[in-house]
Amino acid sequence: MADINGFLKIKKKEAGNRPINERIGDHSEVEQVLNSEDRMLQASRCMDCGIPYCHWGCPVDNLIPEWNELLYKGDWKSAYMRLAATNNFPEFTGRICPAPCEHACVLNIGGEPVTIRENEVAIIERAFAEGYIKPEPPKFRTGKKVAVIGSGPAGMAAADLLNKTGHLVTLFEKDEKAGGLLRYGIPDFKMNKAVVDRRLDLMIKEGLIIKTGVTIGKDISGKELIELFDAICITIGAGHPRDLVAEGRELNGIHFAMEFLPLQNRVNAGQIHASANPITAEGKNVLIIGGGDTGSDCVGTSIRQKAVSVTQIEILPKPPLKRAENNPWPYFGKILKTSTSHEEGCERYWSLATVKFHGVDNNVTGVEVEDVIWNLKDNRHTMEGLQATRRIIPADLVLLAMGFVHPVLEGLLTDLDLELDKRKNIKVDQSHLTNRQKVFAAGDSVSGATLVVNAIASGRKVAKEIDKFLRKE
Ligand SMILES: Cc1cc2nc3c(=O)[nH]c(=O)nc-3n(C[C@H](O)[C@H](O)[C@H](O)COP(=O)(O)OP(=O)(O)OC[C@H]3O[C@@H](n4cnc5c(N)ncnc54)[C@H](O)[C@@H]3O)c2cc1C
Ligand code: SF4
Repeated sequence: MADINGFLKIKKKEAGNRPINERIGDHSEVEQVLNSEDRMLQASRCMDCGIPYCHWGCPVDNLIPEWNELLYKGDWKSAYMRLAATNNFPEFTGRICPAPCEHACVLNIGGEPVTIRENEVAIIERAFAEGYIKPEPPKFRTGKKVAVIGSGPAGMAAADLLNKTGHLVTLFEKDEKAGGLLRYGIPDFKMNKAVVDRRLDLMIKEGLIIKTGVTIGKDISGKELIELFDAICITIGAGHPRDLVAEGRELNGIHFAMEFLPLQNRVNAGQIHASANPITAEGKNVLIIGGGDTGSDCVGTSIRQKAVSVTQIEILPKPPLKRAENNPWPYFGKILKTSTSHEEGCERYWSLATVKFHGVDNNVTGVEVEDVIWNLKDNRHTMEGLQATRRIIPADLVLLAMGFVHPVLEGLLTDLDLELDKRKNIKVDQSHLTNRQKVFAAGDSVSGATLVVNAIASGRKVAKEIDKFLRKE
């Protein structure tokens, strides 16, 4: 237990963010770092809960009260050991996890949860800085070979555990660098890519083989891979974006968020020059369709690219400021989220449907929208458009950020004849096995688009199942 009365004495203190006028001038991380003394005091706020609901809320089952206690006592090394026992990559989740643990924290009943996510990133960064984290290649090799396809957090977690267990793992990635959405989706201002490189370097030193620029299902067939490896793990993500069927969709200047965001990350990485970026918000009125996190990332990126105006619209109603009665603690609070990107300056509208795209000379100039009202009928939400409210929002760059429907089916999945579920995600059984012998799957390609922490949890689970399978073999 940390300090039994800590939460009574110490107020919640967050590290806070860099000032807006400073941070919109660059793509560096927005969040600041708290000094070690304050950080340890924040850990002291973790109470001796009979049932630690934070632990229940964390998809990787992080031993939160245990490492908070060690952190409070200043035993950073032991805190790191406890943290690493359940989470392969606390440096990712500590930066970008929406922290369901904090929603479930008992202190959140009073609205001031323990700063669990920030404590997590503080522990792992201290561990790197102090040199507690060193490459630890497995002491023996099993002689079994595993191919992991897709290097996002699910593939990285699976590859990491399987390699540490002693199997020889090759991680295949179609992009030029590994990391999946950690590298090419999530903007640098949320997570610096040096953090991804640091972890990948460590994994390579531990014996992981990474092959980038290789699309399985095109450069190498899935069937060929099955011949070459003892087990296959598919972690290709949910790359098929949801489209918007409306008149004018074919106009120039309308792009999926994932056509726009990776370009800026590539510019930041020096992979392309800013002047060669084919989709930029500079000097444009930007309209983002989709009110979620991906849309918010488009807001922050557009602002940094010096857009003239940024507007984000969402078809669903505006979430409440406080939990609704049917959304009690300790569940994830479905309340209005104002991200750091929103704070940087954008208009946001809810209950707004897109009717039509307008354009001149084949270029988009505006989006016709109408208000909608939502009704609850027979336990089902229905939507009614109000024609009289139709108006045009001027826009010369429209970004579609309405989520992802399922993994890309063409290529690998059709090549292997993999069975899909009703949502066209890869169908797996309890042990993450697909309908094909020795082919396993995990991450967003199985669950649908979700969170980094869920992808890591899924990667850890599939690794354990593959290990069991290989041992039986
Ligand atoms: C813009 C954006 C922002 C997000 N922000 C957050 C956030 O702040 N916090 C959070 O928790 N979650 C966030 N998410 C969600 C999170 O990134 C995903 O849930 C997570 O990355 C899924 O991990 P994954 O490993 O299953 O797949 P991915 O990260 O999608 O990785 C799949 C990898 O497989 C590769 N691949 C696909 N097909 C092949 C093939 N045939 N051969 C070889 N390689 C292949 C892809 O190139 C990709 O690198 C965000 C998502 C997006 C799009
Ligand atoms: S991984 Fe996410 S849910 Fe788990 S402890 Fe960290 S911030 Fe909380």
